Amino acid sequence: MTAAARRDALRELVRAAELDALLVTDIVNVRYLTGFTGSNAALLVSAEGDTSTRLATDGRYTTQAAAEVPDLERVIDRACDRALVTSAGEAGVRRLGFESGHLTVDAHAALVAVASKETEGLELRRAPGLVQRLRAVKDEDEIDALRDACACADAALADLIAAGGLRPGRTEREVAIDLERRMREHGADGPSFDTIIAAGANSAIPHHRPTDAVLAQGDLVKMDFGALRGGYHSDMTRTVVLGPPADWQRELYDLVAAAQAAGREALAVGAEVAGVDAAARTVIADAGRGAEFSHGLGHGVGLQIHEAPALSATGAGTLVAGMTVTVEPGVYLAGRGGVRIEDTLVVRADGAELLTRTGKELLAL
Ligand code: ZN
Ligand code: ZN
Repeated sequence: MTAAARRDALRELVRAAELDALLVTDIVNVRYLTGFTGSNAALLVSAEGDTSTRLATDGRYTTQAAAEVPDLERVIDRACDRALVTSAGEAGVRRLGFESGHLTVDAHAALVAVASKETEGLELRRAPGLVQRLRAVKDEDEIDALRDACACADAALADLIAAGGLRPGRTEREVAIDLERRMREHGADGPSFDTIIAAGANSAIPHHRPTDAVLAQGDLVKMDFGALRGGYHSDMTRTVVLGPPADWQRELYDLVAAAQAAGREALAVGAEVAGVDAAARTVIADAGRGAEFSHGLGHGVGLQIHEAPALSATGAGTLVAGMTVTVEPGVYLAGRGGVRIEDTLVVRADGAELLTRTGKELLAL
């Protein structure tokens, strides 16, 4: 889908919210709606059409904005959001929505000052999450980008294992650096978030940061990582064991794998997100480990590593074809070790498409 088509889709939401225009200040949303990849910009999307829609950025990006967004009028002003409020007032906008989930209190105060001083009758209205709602459903170009990012991560892990990179004596930090380097070699622009390598008892810490802890024979090693490519993020977790698994490790792994399979199978068009979470959680709770699965089942992934929809017990809404989500149950036994297994999948009418292709059999290295 082109950026222009995305802006048209947004206009429907803007009109439904009874707004004349929406001020987009979240830079990720600006990128989604225009293709602009700079670090400072805002976008005024008029309900009327692209002729009264404007991109604002600062002088560093004059050339880049002209190349990336040739089809929109551009305003060069360091105070992007304020410049666009002025511009909206001059264009006769009366009800201007703003991204209230994103703007800081100070930035909002500055916009209110501009609206009241320079432009008579311009009303700022909260309009949270409109672009996020569109972004939750990916088009095929976005899914292709996510598939590429996931393939980078798959290839990097395969290389790491083939090279014997997961072995006793290495530190968590060394493994993390090695994995990130291999993702870059396979075309990643970088890691999509700080790589988690957690060995032994550290694997029971869901979001452990790699340390100088040394991998030892018998350790569970949990790896949660992803590749960033073309603006899109991949996300995958695999847990392996160094040497033959102990019975408790095998049992824990099989339990999480069964829950993960149940979660994947529950991904269907029209399914309640809370129901998907429950499908996996029930498997773990029935085994008496409910309290040790201490986070939601998954999340949307795309231009950001965490985005709508949230697959959790408190999540609301249903799945739509084209949503790209993770399924990542985990069970963490404090002081001993933990297992998480995570895939990124696309919700499809005929069943979920798996983007992270690395196998899920318990690997004993
Ligand atoms: Zn992850
Ligand atoms: Zn995740």
